[in-house]
Amino acid sequence: MAVTGKGPYDQQNIFAKILRGEIPCKPVFENEWVLAFEDIAPKAPVHVLIIPKKPYVSFMDFSKTAPAEEIAEVMRSAGQIAHTLGLEENGYRLITNAGTNSGQEVPHFHLHLMGGGPLPAFPQ
Ligand code: AMP
Repeated sequence: MAVTGKGPYDQQNIFAKILRGEIPCKPVFENEWVLAFEDIAPKAPVHVLIIPKKPYVSFMDFSKTAPAEEIAEVMRSAGQIAHTLGLEENGYRLITNAGTNSGQEVPHFHLHLMGGGPLPAFPQ
Protein backbone atom coordinates (compact mmCIF):
# COMPACT_ATOMS: atom_id res chain seq x y z
CA MET A 1 0.00 0.00 0.00
CA ALA A 2 1.35 3.41 -0.97
CA VAL A 3 2.49 5.88 1.66
CA THR A 4 2.34 9.68 1.59
CA GLY A 5 6.10 10.14 1.97
CA LYS A 6 5.38 12.83 4.54
CA GLY A 7 4.92 13.13 8.29
CA PRO A 8 6.84 11.59 11.15
CA TYR A 9 9.34 8.81 10.57
CA ASP A 10 8.02 5.34 11.46
CA GLN A 11 10.76 3.52 13.37
CA GLN A 12 8.98 0.22 12.68
CA ASN A 13 9.18 0.39 8.87
CA ILE A 14 10.93 -2.57 7.26
CA PHE A 15 14.07 -0.69 6.24
CA ALA A 16 14.49 0.66 9.78
CA LYS A 17 14.37 -2.95 10.96
CA ILE A 18 16.96 -3.95 8.36
CA LEU A 19 19.23 -1.10 9.50
CA ARG A 20 18.89 -2.26 13.12
CA GLY A 21 19.70 -5.84 12.08
CA GLU A 22 16.27 -7.11 13.15
CA ILE A 23 15.46 -8.37 9.63
CA PRO A 24 18.05 -9.93 7.31
CA CYS A 25 19.03 -8.51 3.95
CA LYS A 26 21.51 -9.36 1.22
CA PRO A 27 23.95 -6.45 1.48
CA VAL A 28 26.00 -5.38 -1.53
CA PHE A 29 27.65 -2.24 -0.11
CA GLU A 30 27.92 -0.28 3.10
CA ASN A 31 29.72 2.84 4.21
CA GLU A 32 29.26 5.56 6.85
CA TRP A 33 26.26 7.01 5.02
CA VAL A 34 24.38 4.24 3.24
CA LEU A 35 23.47 0.59 3.18
CA ALA A 36 22.69 -1.06 -0.16
CA PHE A 37 21.05 -4.47 -0.45
CA GLU A 38 19.25 -6.62 -3.00
CA ASP A 39 15.57 -5.91 -3.58
CA ILE A 40 13.50 -8.87 -2.37
CA ALA A 41 11.33 -8.76 -5.53
CA PRO A 42 13.76 -7.72 -8.27
CA LYS A 43 12.37 -5.98 -11.37
CA ALA A 44 15.65 -6.29 -13.26
CA PRO A 45 18.62 -8.71 -13.33
CA VAL A 46 20.32 -6.32 -10.90
CA HIS A 47 17.94 -4.50 -8.55
CA VAL A 48 19.54 -2.93 -5.51
CA LEU A 49 18.06 -0.58 -2.92
CA ILE A 50 20.29 2.18 -1.60
CA ILE A 51 19.18 3.70 1.67
CA PRO A 52 20.62 6.40 3.91
CA LYS A 53 21.42 5.16 7.40
CA LYS A 54 19.65 8.18 8.85
CA PRO A 55 15.84 8.32 9.04
CA TYR A 56 14.16 10.12 6.13
CA VAL A 57 10.59 9.30 5.14
CA SER A 58 11.06 9.96 1.42
CA PHE A 59 12.99 12.05 -1.08
CA MET A 60 10.73 14.95 -0.08
CA ASP A 61 12.06 14.73 3.46
CA PHE A 62 15.66 13.92 2.44
CA SER A 63 15.97 16.74 -0.10
CA LYS A 64 14.55 19.30 2.34
CA THR A 65 16.22 18.33 5.59
CA ALA A 66 19.41 16.34 4.98
CA PRO A 67 22.69 18.26 5.31
CA ALA A 68 24.39 19.03 2.00
CA GLU A 69 27.27 16.71 2.85
CA GLU A 70 24.90 13.79 3.38
CA ILE A 71 23.05 14.44 0.12
CA ALA A 72 26.36 14.48 -1.71
CA GLU A 73 27.63 11.34 0.02
CA VAL A 74 24.45 9.38 -0.67
CA MET A 75 24.48 10.33 -4.35
CA ARG A 76 28.20 9.64 -4.66
CA SER A 77 27.69 6.28 -3.00
CA ALA A 78 24.99 5.43 -5.54
CA GLY A 79 27.40 6.09 -8.37
CA GLN A 80 30.11 4.08 -6.64
CA ILE A 81 27.74 1.13 -6.17
CA ALA A 82 26.75 1.19 -9.85
CA HIS A 83 30.44 1.26 -10.76
CA THR A 84 31.33 -1.56 -8.36
CA LEU A 85 28.49 -3.73 -9.66
CA GLY A 86 29.81 -3.33 -13.19
CA LEU A 87 26.77 -1.43 -14.44
CA GLU A 88 28.56 1.49 -16.08
CA GLU A 89 29.51 -0.26 -19.30
CA ASN A 90 25.93 -0.94 -20.40
CA GLY A 91 24.09 1.56 -18.22
CA TYR A 92 21.51 1.51 -15.48
CA ARG A 93 18.45 3.24 -14.04
CA LEU A 94 18.33 5.07 -10.71
CA ILE A 95 14.91 6.12 -9.42
CA THR A 96 13.07 6.98 -6.26
CA ASN A 97 9.36 6.80 -5.53
CA ALA A 98 8.08 9.64 -3.37
CA GLY A 99 4.55 9.59 -2.04
CA THR A 100 1.18 8.23 -3.02
CA ASN A 101 1.10 8.83 -6.78
CA SER A 102 4.47 7.12 -7.20
CA GLY A 103 3.39 4.02 -5.30
CA GLN A 104 6.10 4.39 -2.64
CA GLU A 105 5.55 1.52 -0.24
CA VAL A 106 8.35 1.74 2.30
CA PRO A 107 8.48 5.04 4.24
CA HIS A 108 12.28 5.24 4.40
CA PHE A 109 13.92 7.12 1.51
CA HIS A 110 15.53 4.72 -0.96
CA LEU A 111 17.00 4.71 -4.42
CA HIS A 112 16.28 1.82 -6.76
CA LEU A 113 19.34 0.91 -8.82
CA MET A 114 18.41 -1.34 -11.74
CA GLY A 115 20.48 -2.78 -14.54
CA GLY A 116 22.22 -5.90 -15.68
CA GLY A 117 20.24 -6.04 -18.92
CA PRO A 118 17.98 -3.93 -21.12
CA LEU A 119 15.27 -2.23 -19.05
CA PRO A 120 11.71 -1.58 -20.22
CA ALA A 121 11.03 1.89 -21.59
CA PHE A 122 10.36 4.28 -18.73
CA PRO A 123 7.87 4.48 -17.11
CA GLN A 124 7.22 0.76 -16.76
P1 AMP B 1 8.96 1.49 -3.12
O1 AMP B 1 7.69 1.00 -3.75
O2 AMP B 1 9.68 2.48 -3.96
O3 AMP B 1 8.72 1.93 -1.69
O4 AMP B 1 9.93 0.23 -3.09
C1 AMP B 1 10.02 -0.64 -2.01
C2 AMP B 1 10.86 -1.80 -2.45
O5 AMP B 1 11.27 -2.52 -1.30
C3 AMP B 1 10.13 -2.81 -3.36
O6 AMP B 1 10.83 -2.93 -4.61
C4 AMP B 1 10.17 -4.12 -2.55
O7 AMP B 1 10.35 -5.26 -3.37
C5 AMP B 1 11.34 -3.88 -1.64
N1 AMP B 1 11.32 -4.61 -0.37
C6 AMP B 1 10.31 -4.71 0.52
N2 AMP B 1 10.67 -5.43 1.59
C7 AMP B 1 11.97 -5.78 1.38
C8 AMP B 1 12.94 -6.53 2.13
N3 AMP B 1 12.64 -7.07 3.31
N4 AMP B 1 14.16 -6.70 1.61
C9 AMP B 1 14.48 -6.16 0.41
N5 AMP B 1 13.63 -5.43 -0.34
C10 AMP B 1 12.39 -5.25 0.13
